[in-house]
Formats: sequence, structure tokens, C-alpha cells
Amino acid sequence: MRVVVVGGGVSGLTAARDLAETGVDVLVLEATGEVGGKLRRGEVSGTAVDVGAEAMINRRPEGVALATELALPLTHPTPASSRIWTRDALRPLPRTLMGAPLDLDQLERAGILSPDGMARARRQLVQQVTGDESVGEAVAQRFGPEVVDRLVEPLLGGVYAGQARQISIRSAVPQLADLLGRTEFTLPVPPPDAPPVFAAVDGGMWRLVAAAADDLRAQPGVEVRVGSPVTAVRRTGYGFVVATAGGDEAADALVLATPAAPTARLLGDLAPTAAAELERIGYASVAVVTFAFDASAPGVAEALDVGASGFLVPPVDGRAVKASTFSFAKWDWVREAADGLLVLRTSLGRFGEEATLQVPDDELVRASLTDLAAATGLTAAPVDAVVQRWGAGLPQYWVGHSERIARIRAAVAAVPGLAVCGAAYDGVGIPACIASGHAAAAALSR
Ligand SMILES: Cc1cc2nc3c(=O)[nH]c(=O)nc-3n(C[C@H](O)[C@H](O)[C@H](O)COP(=O)(O)OP(=O)(O)OC[C@H]3O[C@@H](n4cnc5c(N)ncnc54)[C@H](O)[C@@H]3O)c2cc1C
Repeated sequence: MRVVVVGGGVSGLTAARDLAETGVDVLVLEATGEVGGKLRRGEVSGTAVDVGAEAMINRRPEGVALATELALPLTHPTPASSRIWTRDALRPLPRTLMGAPLDLDQLERAGILSPDGMARARRQLVQQVTGDESVGEAVAQRFGPEVVDRLVEPLLGGVYAGQARQISIRSAVPQLADLLGRTEFTLPVPPPDAPPVFAAVDGGMWRLVAAAADDLRAQPGVEVRVGSPVTAVRRTGYGFVVATAGGDEAADALVLATPAAPTARLLGDLAPTAAAELERIGYASVAVVTFAFDASAPGVAEALDVGASGFLVPPVDGRAVKASTFSFAKWDWVREAADGLLVLRTSLGRFGEEATLQVPDDELVRASLTDLAAATGLTAAPVDAVVQRWGAGLPQYWVGHSERIARIRAAVAAVPGLAVCGAAYDGVGIPACIASGHAAAAALSR
């Protein structure tokens, strides 16, 4: 039996690992010159860094389990917390559930809302969330629109690069749907010895996919082929023909671990209903700019050493960047690897803002530096700056997403030997993608 996995991101590599373990032959076809998808190694001033995903949730087991299986060392962020850059100051981030405030006194002290916005937040109009609705509408109903604009938008923007008034509460933050219907909007404060919320691979998340691919390549009957875009798939009597620029590949079973748009193109004839639904999933394009600053240059340490791991920016403030991560303050390994340098990154681009990214790299660098100067007072020129663009990088889980995914899954299940996985379906985070890779392999092994 031979299975072809299309797409060498973390979802496809996970499916390939599970399938290889069952003893079948596996061919992974990756369009670009390297595996990993949104987990990617870059270099800034000679230091290897993540230029895509940089962390994973520690409260789900799949990401940490994969790293452990691959004997990769894990690490956690330092206790430095993020700020909100709004109303012309870097303000402490109060406790929230995806921006919905869990401590209104803390929120008031942070000065994130106007006095009117704060008064509305304190009025708290409790209403049950019954069906699906947007995170923004549901939170605005209880706490008012300013909480959405200044807290929910930047926090959701960090995960989905999306708009709070479009993203589904049921798919993106189901716990919030339940909590908003309760009189008391609280969650227990985690004890000091609670496990950290986030984990990462020491040395960079890119090591996870690099190690997974190396491990696959070492197995008999497995091939991981890069630079091999799949252009079409056809059904044959009992299997599939997978067309690549280098020729056709026969497969008894097929896993499509690609984003929604290429998956829709490949499924056009095989599963037209699934293809039509996949075409309706929107994607946000984003760019990540990674900077290295000389730590000893005048003013650099003073400006950046603000005791924070970075900041988030509400779209209403009209800045170019949507967030900045002070990697040197967040990750011990970054600070140690980039000796004498302070490495940080900015991210730009939300759903619907593609035009703002259609400028030369230099302009993204310049816009980031302008915002960094306004937020922190940093005026020094960087030693190096690297721009990584992620066109159609993050799927948008709009209201009704889970029903759409159920329809896609039903249409795919009607084609024997076919499975799909990836960020478009049941979670964009790395552990959720790994889970979807496991589920795709399991579906084919039944
Ligand atoms: C900038 C950024 C930062 C992020 N940060 C985090 C984070 O810190 N933590 C977190 O948990 N998540 C983060 N995410 C989300 C997470 O990284 C992704 O959702 C996840 O890695 C997606 O994995 P995937 O395998 O489903 O898809 P992808 O990584 O998109 O992989 C799909 C692969 O399919 C290939 N492909 C496409 N078409 C074809 C074709 N026709 N033939 C062959 N190959 C094809 C692509 O080249 C790609 O390599 C981030 C995402 C972005 C964009």
C-alpha cells in the first residue's frame, strides 16, 4: 500500500509519521524548497530564529508530545508579559479570556479604555450565546464595543490576524461562549506552580518540522520530496493518480495537508462539494519582520528593556504593526544565541488589509521602525532586518465555520482512501494541526 501526502507542513508530516508507523509506503510531496510550512527557520545577523510560528500551547498534549518523541528539548517563555500599545502608551495587559476582561479593576488601572468605555464595561449586560455568533458581537453585548476594539481585536489578531466581528465564538473560543452567559465572568487565577501556558522547542520551533522530516527520511519506504507542487489529483479504479511537474505518482490513498485554496483546487473533480466549501474559507496575509539591534548602541537597551515580552496593538489606534514580540526578553535561547544583540520581531497585516502589505520590504521595515520608535523611544538603526511574508497565511474561522467543516468532512469521507488535514479545519495552532494530522492518518488506517 502506498499513501501520498500532499503538503509538508506540520499537519502533513504528522500524518506521514503515523502512516509510516503502520508499515505502508509514504511519499510526502511539498511544493516549496523546504518542509515545515509556517514553521520556518530564518537568520538575522547570523542567528537562527523562527520567522513563522514561534510557540505552541502547552495545555494541549500534541505539540509537546511530538517534540518529546523527536527528542527535542522543550523550553517555556520567560515570565515577562505583553503590553497593549494603545491611547499613546504601553499599558499592562490585564487578565482576559481572549480579550474579555476577567478583572475589571485591573482593566481600569491599565487605562486601556476611555472613562465611557470603562463605565459600559462595568455595566455588563449578561446574555446567553445560543447558536454561533462572532466573538466581537458577543463580547460587545456584555462589555461594550470599546472592549472589543481595544482588547479583543489585538488578542484575536495575534492568533487569527482576523476581525473580531467576523470570527466565530464557537470555533475560536468556545469557552468564552459559555462564560459570557454566566452572571459572574470569572475564571480561577492559576496557582503559581501551574504548568506554563506556552512551550517551544529550545532553539526554535522550526526544529520540530526539521526533525520530523529527518526522522521520516530515515525510515524505509518513506520519501519526503521538496520542490514538488501537486497540480492535480484523479481517481483511478481503486486509488489515485497525483500529478506533479516531475510526472504522475500512483497512490492507494491520499492525504491533502494543504491550505484551503490549494485543497479546493485539487478536490474540484474528486469532491466538488468539499471544494466549493473550502473556497469560502478566507485567509489573512501577514508579514513578520525580524530585527537585530546592537545591545550596546546608545539608547537601545534603555528603550527596549521595558520589562515586557512585547506589545499588541488595537487596529483602532491606526498603527502599521499589529504586534511586536521582544524575542530577546521572551525566550532565553534567543537572548543566548544572539550574543550582544537584541532580537525582536514585528508583525503586520490583518484580514482585509492585503493592500497594506503590497509594498517593498524596505517599507515594511521602515513602518515597523517608526512604530517601534513611537512605542518605546527606540531610534537606533538595526544591525539587520529580515522580512518574511506569509501570503494567505492564516485561515479565518468565520461564524458558521464548524458547520462548514462538517460538510467538508462528510464530502471527503464519501471518497474512499481520501483524507484532509491542516489549519483550515479544527484549529490553527500547532497542536491542533498535529491532532488533525493524526486524525487523517487514523481515518485512512480504519
Ligand atoms: C506568521 C505566523 C505565525 C504563527 N505563529 C504561531 C504560533 O506561535 N503558535 C501556533 O501554534 N501557531 C502559529 N501559527 C499557526 C500555525 O503555524 C499554522 O496554522 C500551522 O503551522 C499550519 O500547518 P499546516 O501543516 O496545516 O499548514 P502549512 O504550514 O501551511 O503547510 C502546508 C504545506 O503545503 C504546501 N503546499 C501547498 N500547496 C501545495 C501543493 N499544491 N503541492 C504540494 N505542497 C503544497 C505548502 O507549501 C506548505 O508547506 C502561525 C502562523 C503564521 C502564518
